[in-house]
Amino acid sequence: MTAQRLTGKPVAEKIRAQSAQLVQALREQDFTAKISVIVATKNKATAWYVRSIEKAAGVQGVECQVLRIPDADQEQLAETITALNNDETVHGIILQTPLPDGFDAAKLVELIDPAKDIDGANPLSLGRLSVGQPAFAPATARSVIEILEHYEIPLAGEHVAVVGRSAVVGKPLAQLLLQRNATVSICHSRTSNLAHFTTAASVTVMAAGRANLLAGDDVAESFVVIDVGTNVDDDGQLVGDVHAASVEPKVSALSPVPGGVGTVTTALLILHAVEAATEVHALTGRKGEPMALRR
Ligand code: NAP
Repeated sequence: MTAQRLTGKPVAEKIRAQSAQLVQALREQDFTAKISVIVATKNKATAWYVRSIEKAAGVQGVECQVLRIPDADQEQLAETITALNNDETVHGIILQTPLPDGFDAAKLVELIDPAKDIDGANPLSLGRLSVGQPAFAPATARSVIEILEHYEIPLAGEHVAVVGRSAVVGKPLAQLLLQRNATVSICHSRTSNLAHFTTAASVTVMAAGRANLLAGDDVAESFVVIDVGTNVDDDGQLVGDVHAASVEPKVSALSPVPGGVGTVTTALLILHAVEAATEVHALTGRKGEPMALRR
């Protein structure tokens, strides 16, 4: 059996087309979506990721303001977030993490207005998702859903094993899956007999950040694997959590790394920003008061 490759490219293209339509509708009313990205670190991977957001925003006609404040302390970052919350021209706020040692990132993301929390970082967003209220999911978690839905993989009534329980991937993803009537097993580093869950599921999502954690013996025939993991192997290559050589011959479909989930996330961040701007515009007809109306 040759596994279908669930590549992210066509999914990202579809999402970009959705954003383009919304951007055009906003433009016709002289309204521009704007993202602010706060960068308080000199981390190289962060710099690369932020450039990719800037580029994607530029291509889609979304304004992207990058606030590079590597010398800021906790209080200055908190003030920056509050100012962006109150800035009616800003529709999406991203605080780049990880932050350098000494920062309390959890306290800072709690300050981001949920209406502008386009990467679902504020725990309020996760709480809202879990009770079915409108909220932005973290782009990575939603990317998994977008891939599954694009390739028409059934979720309702199916058993989905999610390996990883972080607040940015595993937990919000579990909520998005529950909303789609999947039966979800959330596995983590203390799960005994991981294979018990992954062999029983019809879809497994790997989000552990451990290269080769899922091998051929851990999967049932004809099932679907989504690999969220990004790890660097001994040869410096980007690899996922799946041992592709042993898993691919057994399963019906597998998302590749690179070229899978990661390909979709930036497109979704931009879509979230455009959705946030569209909502503000629809609610107010002008550039103001989105937060009060969303709460
Ligand atoms: P994280 O915060 O480190 O969480 C990892 C999760 O995996 C934890 O819940 C951990 O369990 C679980 N885990 C670790 N080892 C395990 C094992 N041996 N068996 C079962 N579960 C295990 O990581 P994250 O931020 O969620 O990210 C997960 C992966 O996705 C990483 O590789 C990350 O680079 C990647 N990622 C990719 C994208 C993208 O766009 N493609 C975006 C974000 C993240 P405990 O809770 O018990 O510790």
